[in-house]
Amino acid sequence: MPSRMGEQRCPVSGTGGKACPMGSMAGSRAASRASSRTGPRGCTFSGFAQPGDVRAAFGIPADQDVEEFLRQRERKAINELIYSNVPSMAEIKDLQNAKGVKSLDKLNMDERDLLAVALGAPARQVLLRAEEIGPKTGWRDGYLSTEYGFCPPDTTEAPGALRNSPGRVWMDLCDRMPGCVARGRVRESIAALPIVEGTDNVIPDRALWAALVSLGMLCSIWRYEEKHDGNEGINLSTKTIKLNGVPMCEDLGDEVQGIPLSIGLPYVQICIRMGRTIPHLTFFDQSSYNVDIKDPLSKHPYVGRFDNTTLRWAMFGDSAENAFLKGCADTAASFQHGVDAIAECQEHVMNRNNDGLLRSLVRLKEVLERMPNAFHTISPNDRSGENYVSPPEWVRWAKFSAPLSKRCPATSGLQFPPYLVMDAFLGRVKYDSFLGNEGVHLRAWLPSNLRAFIAAIEYHYQIPAYVKASNDPRLIGVLDGVVEAYTGERGFMGVHRYKVFGLLECAAKTGRTETNGNSGGFDERSWELVHKEFSESMKERLEPFRGNFDTQPHEMRGTFEECRYRCRILSRNYVDADPKRSIAQVTLDIENSGITFAPGDRLAVMPMNSWTECAKVAAALGLDTMLENPVGLDRSWTRFADHMGSVTRTSRHQLTVVDILRKGHLAPLTKDLVMKLHNMLRASSNTVLQILATDEWPVRGSLGDLLQSAVNDTSPRVWDQAFDISGNLSWLADLVPVEVPRTYSISTYSDELLPSTVDLTISRSEYQLCSTFAGNSKIIRHGVSSGFLNPPVNEEMDVQDDEDVLIGVSRPSAFQLPFDETSPVALFAGGSGIAPFRSFWQSRAGHAFGKTILYLGVQSRERFAYEDELRHYVNEGMMEVHTAFSRDTRGLAFDPYTRDLVEKETPPRYIDGLIVEQGQSICDFVMSKKQGGIGGYMYVCGSVGVFDSVMSGIRKAIYNHRSNSMESADAVLNLAFAERRFMLDVFMTPKPLPCNQPTIPLSQLAMHTGHHPNSRLWIGVHGKVYDVTEFGAMHPGGTNIIKSNAGVDCSRSFDLLAHTNNPEVSSLLTKYYIGEMTPKPAYLHSEDLSMLYDLWSQYLRVAVETVVASHFEVGMIMESSNVWFQGDLLNMGGVRRFYHYQSRLLQSGFSALFGAKLQELYLKISFTLANASSSTGPVRLPDVLGIIARAKGSKDALTASNEISQIGQFTANSDAARHHEKGIIAYAQKSVEFDMEFLENIREEACAGMDAFDTIVELEAQSETQRIAALSTFLMQVLDRMANRLEAFYAKLARYSVFRPEMERNPARARWNILKRKVHDGSFFVLTQKTAMSTTKAYDQRTMQKQHPGVDFDMVISQIQMNLDNAPRAMPRKMDLTEQHAARAEPMPNGVPTYEHHHNGSAIQAMSTFMDKNRKAIRRLSKLPQAINLEQLMQSYGTGTLPPSIHGGLPTPPSSRSPSRSPSTSSNARNGGNRRNTASDTQNPTRMRSRRNTATSDSGFSPTPMHLSPAAAMSALMTKMNTRPKAGGNHLPSPPHSAGVNMMAERTRSMQAMSGPRTSTPHSAMTLGTGANTDVVHTRSRSNTGSLRAFRLQASALAGGMNRRGETLVE
Ligand SMILES: Cc1cc2nc3c(=O)[nH]c(=O)nc-3n(C[C@H](O)[C@H](O)[C@H](O)COP(=O)(O)OP(=O)(O)OC[C@H]3O[C@@H](n4cnc5c(N)ncnc54)[C@H](O)[C@@H]3O)c2cc1C
Repeated sequence: MPSRMGEQRCPVSGTGGKACPMGSMAGSRAASRASSRTGPRGCTFSGFAQPGDVRAAFGIPADQDVEEFLRQRERKAINELIYSNVPSMAEIKDLQNAKGVKSLDKLNMDERDLLAVALGAPARQVLLRAEEIGPKTGWRDGYLSTEYGFCPPDTTEAPGALRNSPGRVWMDLCDRMPGCVARGRVRESIAALPIVEGTDNVIPDRALWAALVSLGMLCSIWRYEEKHDGNEGINLSTKTIKLNGVPMCEDLGDEVQGIPLSIGLPYVQICIRMGRTIPHLTFFDQSSYNVDIKDPLSKHPYVGRFDNTTLRWAMFGDSAENAFLKGCADTAASFQHGVDAIAECQEHVMNRNNDGLLRSLVRLKEVLERMPNAFHTISPNDRSGENYVSPPEWVRWAKFSAPLSKRCPATSGLQFPPYLVMDAFLGRVKYDSFLGNEGVHLRAWLPSNLRAFIAAIEYHYQIPAYVKASNDPRLIGVLDGVVEAYTGERGFMGVHRYKVFGLLECAAKTGRTETNGNSGGFDERSWELVHKEFSESMKERLEPFRGNFDTQPHEMRGTFEECRYRCRILSRNYVDADPKRSIAQVTLDIENSGITFAPGDRLAVMPMNSWTECAKVAAALGLDTMLENPVGLDRSWTRFADHMGSVTRTSRHQLTVVDILRKGHLAPLTKDLVMKLHNMLRASSNTVLQILATDEWPVRGSLGDLLQSAVNDTSPRVWDQAFDISGNLSWLADLVPVEVPRTYSISTYSDELLPSTVDLTISRSEYQLCSTFAGNSKIIRHGVSSGFLNPPVNEEMDVQDDEDVLIGVSRPSAFQLPFDETSPVALFAGGSGIAPFRSFWQSRAGHAFGKTILYLGVQSRERFAYEDELRHYVNEGMMEVHTAFSRDTRGLAFDPYTRDLVEKETPPRYIDGLIVEQGQSICDFVMSKKQGGIGGYMYVCGSVGVFDSVMSGIRKAIYNHRSNSMESADAVLNLAFAERRFMLDVFMTPKPLPCNQPTIPLSQLAMHTGHHPNSRLWIGVHGKVYDVTEFGAMHPGGTNIIKSNAGVDCSRSFDLLAHTNNPEVSSLLTKYYIGEMTPKPAYLHSEDLSMLYDLWSQYLRVAVETVVASHFEVGMIMESSNVWFQGDLLNMGGVRRFYHYQSRLLQSGFSALFGAKLQELYLKISFTLANASSSTGPVRLPDVLGIIARAKGSKDALTASNEISQIGQFTANSDAARHHEKGIIAYAQKSVEFDMEFLENIREEACAGMDAFDTIVELEAQSETQRIAALSTFLMQVLDRMANRLEAFYAKLARYSVFRPEMERNPARARWNILKRKVHDGSFFVLTQKTAMSTTKAYDQRTMQKQHPGVDFDMVISQIQMNLDNAPRAMPRKMDLTEQHAARAEPMPNGVPTYEHHHNGSAIQAMSTFMDKNRKAIRRLSKLPQAINLEQLMQSYGTGTLPPSIHGGLPTPPSSRSPSRSPSTSSNARNGGNRRNTASDTQNPTRMRSRRNTATSDSGFSPTPMHLSPAAAMSALMTKMNTRPKAGGNHLPSPPHSAGVNMMAERTRSMQAMSGPRTSTPHSAMTLGTGANTDVVHTRSRSNTGSLRAFRLQASALAGGMNRRGETLVE
């Protein structure tokens, strides 16, 4: 018999009572809240709900009726509610006098309000009604209940009822469906079903939901199979399956037209009963209502929802479908208690109960904050086991769930009720964006209960309006938190947006061909477009709170806009025995701010510059008496002022000089800042020039230091003009950018509803002032923010603690405690890395059943932070603590028996030594449960050095105890990352990076895509190259996300994903930095060269992305046996996947590489050549387009296509396929191998062309035209070779066949089967059928020609014109919503993925613009007389070094030149990409020019801190500063160090030459550089390879026969 205790039992501990059992744990602050019903903050069980235990969930006494209780808890007398705030008699009198007696009527409540109060909170009414009617009607109005939200109360009820009805036939078939798909027998199986009607005499109400889902799935798979019957790719003999005698739906509506009556008829009937006027499948049908809870009595039904659920009816049965649909169900279900929380909010608003509203809002916020966690169950990481969603499979899901007709709603994530509910709750008014429109549309089709609930919260007692009117800062703060948690950049919508970006990018580059939203347009890549659409809808959601703003959400990341709360610094305390307090516990006052936080959360803090720094700037600029003067603001400071207005809830702030100085970025000196100053001072300051000549950025010093120095060496006239203090000072805002916030891990745990304080653990960062300012002295400076929060003890007066500090809270989704408190947790910390762990151990102490172990590495016993607190937890048996001291032998050992840390002499060691010592237990932690480990959760926090040390320790430990090689140790580690059990909080401050290194050319970057074993993976970001090979496995989004950007400049993705502003990413990246990217050469005076460079680099990018994307897909096809076999038989799913992949490549003829993009290049290079040779006589050009067209239409291409077409036919006919099982797989293996080899060759060609752009700059030529002609000649040869490679590729492929009886298990049957097929299709009798490929172009008249004699320019133009005429000229028509969704199922023309489609589209547009623009010139050039051959032209210059044009039937491509500096050896790099080394590689060692250090002595300024009160500090400081020279004083400033005058003047001249605006030609710049031995910012790399040398010889010959001797070339 359940006891009263049992009614309130906590599902975690099993114990209970009225109070939360966890809330009353000893040793926790929660003891003070022993009577609280709610759990500790972050408790997974909001309200301790356990399925069926509604009393426990809502604290309903046993003797009360549940429904009645919920109904009554809102009831109060109307008058009590409405007339609680009656004005005083005096106020009434005032009103009467002011507005007359009549106005007093207004004292009485509006009647509509009265009615609403009399009826009760509408949301609750809707809920109660739904709960009452639902169980009796099979929830046909939609699942809606207080306890389960939008989830079914019992997932087994509807399927159970269906199983016991004749409708069982549908669910049986659903159960069999993955097998039917694998056998290629879907439609036959559906056709074989008997007709069972969906009327109420056959299918009971209780079975309705299950019937709806199963029939919806069957109708959709029918449609999918119809469109994917093996004819959708290459098909040379279309054969469709004929199902004779199967009754089909004819007049039941478009949705089921042509679908067998056996499923179409009951589907229509069931839909009508469910209120779906037009039958359609929804996203929640497939996911939320298509999962079963494995163990409904599980103690962790919600935390482990993914593991505790099974997808009831999978159609394809692979991990992508499973993980994706379960993951989506999980996301929606995590909103379960949000429904009640929202109804509660409305009740509290109705009851004017602010405290109640506060509680419910906090509860809602916690629900929302947990929602993004479910996304982790959908992983694009191929090592993530059953969570893995491979992009091509995911793409297939989108096709499967395309709408059944154009008029019915499509499946869309927006159908999930939480989104539409939250939009209504937060008062979204704008739905103009694409997704906004879609939301409105989908809302109209939601189940009735859900629509009623949404309307109830949208139209009555709007919470945001109430909160605003309340003026209660707590409510406003918490509501702000709710908004952030739902739609903020770091909230649910933000996380969702990034998740989708990654998945879509991988998918679009591989097989995604369907349109989505507005995609398919030519201007943006599809995943970027979707990203933008998400951004628009996020902005619409934010608008009621933030107004209309023109920034994209990701642009706010890492800026002040993330700091929406104000706090004060309360105290700074010692955490260890270090008297300097290098690390301090800083406590902030957040009372009544509405801030809540959980373990692992971070605080963003907007730091303020010290008064000393402000004073230096003010003094130098002459602003000392104008500190309170207003400043004219630029865009970013205006945003800041608006932000301050919004945070303080006042109008826009007027910012003054002191605001800019305190909140602007003054240190360290960035290149931007110094360049601005340089320009303002018209390049006249020596000091500024010295700084510009730095060899690393940013420079370690401040604006104050620089101005203090520069004021002395700049003429007062220039100074006064630059810094005009008579105007509105707008130059100040232009010069000084707004500072960015710093991130700190929250170091405290609180279970208070609204915590009043928060602790941070701040380590003061220090650096040495650069020598330009410090001279020979060693001057130590501290970081802006850490110095502000934790200043040196004797400088505390330099900060002021009575000022508001702006802060914001964020939750890193990849750094959170496991929900399951039984999970063991290991914390690895170095130094101040202990910061977040304090919140971890405080929150777990006493609650968690799993172990909590801290491994701490610090310098010495003096630096052992929080020792007393840790000892307390150790003594209480709540934690284990293990320490490593790197400079101390006074060690401590953890004694498990005495539960103490005992003194033990230990040699100094780092944390890796400690880890190796504790290796056994750490290995258990790391190893997955599947590997026999305990699958613990591991957290690493500290600098990058700490992270490295921890990782190397763990690797060694695994090697010592569990694995036989370092490689397998890595595999164990990688699996832990993939299972998301390894979480990092690496908080290294970014380090200045050198800027004088040799650069890395684009071609080198392109070759490092890391897809071969042992090859490296590089990415380029904002001019820098990073080797992220090691980081791949750790990427939270999975390796594939990184891989999809390998070998290219991915700055754009970085910006869109806010990585650029993300301190975590930028600091981590510095670890992987390997050099600067070779910048685009300055082709001054040559737009043509510049244009060609851009085009070629885009082409190279496409070539690299194609290699990477194909490798993904090929890997997915070939590396998993699951793809090829299902139930021990050949899997048609695998066959289909290969068919789709290979069809796409062949059908579109590698359209990304040989389509419009290449044509554009060909056109422009031909044009350039024609132009260049117009004086000497025209050239004959290689017929590149002709070769390509002939290759595509060749017999070999046809043979290859024929094989693929045959494979397509197998996909719907396993009967035929089973005889050729081995042949199919072997064929697939061979052809993907050829594909990859071919794509890599093309990439290599593109690299060779790219290198030529760098080399051409150094070529001495008489004119630019000659230079361009030389380059274009080379590029044309490269294009020619590429075209020839295509021909050779088809020839190679054509040698293989699927039909190879000799390799089958039963050759005789295989042969007999081939014969049967030939007899059947007639080819046995007519062996040479004429079949033409549809892609063959009309100008391909010379198909059989063996030699390619070349073409004239006018032929080139007519080919291009013909292509343009055949291409879609106009942008695709903008489709309406439903059309777009319907188009999802349709293949794009030629099966071209959206990514390629985009590239081709923009190239076509560019070509047509080019043709229009140059029409006159083209006409002139094409009229020129007949030309000489290009090769003849080349040979006539007698270089003799031309690469042999034919090698084994193909021209040999030149190797691309080696990099100026390759961190991996060049041979390594080449091995990765099959590039060959040439003997001349070493002949030409790269000559580097490095910048010298520009050391100067002390500037005279002493940084000694002033010991004055803060108020007086600044003016006192001014007296010490170099101040603005008085106007009129035209003395020439004396340089800071007279001894170095001459040297300085010399240096200045050379620096001016270097950094001033360059007007010289590249040639003169080079000469200047060489002659004067002037440094250059980037040392350009040199070409080494023989082929490029040859190229240069040829090119210079072409350029007029000059400098034909190698030694005259510039080196
Ligand atoms: C996720 C995360 C969590 C963190 N948690 C904590 C914590 O709990 N406790 C803690 O003490 N710290 C933490 N940090 C570090 C913290 O955010 C700051 O980086 C640190 O306090 C230094 O900031 P600062 O303003 O004092 O230094 P800054 O003034 O920004 O700079 C100090 C040093 O960095 C260099 N530098 C500054 N900007 C750049 C740049 N753009 N490029 C190259 N070099 C640059 C300067 O030259 C100088 O050497 C965390 C960082 C992250 C990313």
